Amino acid sequence: MIVVIDGPAGSGKSSTAKAVAANLQIQFLDSGALYRVATLVYLNSREHNRSFFEQLEESEISFYFKKEKFHAFLNGQDVTEEIRSMDVSDHVSEVASDPKVRAYINDLMRKAVKQDVYIADGRDLGTAVFPDAELKFYMIADLDTRAERRYNEIKGSDPEVTLEEIRKNIAQRDEKDSNRDSDPLKKADDAIEVNTSDMTFEDQVAFISKVIRKELSKQIKK
Ligand code: C5P
Repeated sequence: MIVVIDGPAGSGKSSTAKAVAANLQIQFLDSGALYRVATLVYLNSREHNRSFFEQLEESEISFYFKKEKFHAFLNGQDVTEEIRSMDVSDHVSEVASDPKVRAYINDLMRKAVKQDVYIADGRDLGTAVFPDAELKFYMIADLDTRAERRYNEIKGSDPEVTLEEIRKNIAQRDEKDSNRDSDPLKKADDAIEVNTSDMTFEDQVAFISKVIRKELSKQIKK
């Protein structure tokens, strides 16, 4: 079974999905993290004057979820922290707009979730990657709230970063992610919309966990 949460950057998808996964003891898949790993490959290929897509196809991207943390690996190397850098954030939407990259990451995700119960977060999971997902959520929040959340999340690891820089990066990514030709950020018609601007984190987790528990018990009865 797969549950998806789509929405713009900083709407609370990843942190909520991680807490829900830990709560319900299910798996978590952070699709944005996989696009960020692909972006590391892109930055590396640019530095070494190599064909990006060739290098991506030769790469091994893997991940696991443990103790509420999603770990990402590139060719066996843990890149969990590196993929959160501003350099990656500044290039990820451009890399993710390439249909070949999307096909590559989608394939990786579809293979990964075949077994087990997963909650996955992204931009196009409910519309393009898993249109038959048993449950779909679409999370939104206003731009200032989202920028502040991201700032609090990364200021520890990147003390130079400013709130304004993050606000600009999020606004630019929203624009690119919503207007690209291939699989743009969009609410699926059958997704449940959750506006988290005035919700506490605990309320978000409790609401989504409750809906999933109900669906899980329906699936068990089937
Ligand atoms: O979720 P996160 O903000 O880490 O995602 C980074 C970027 O990856 C997004 O801004 C978007 O450009 C891309 N992405 C995507 N499709 C997804 C998940 C993320 O295009 N399903």
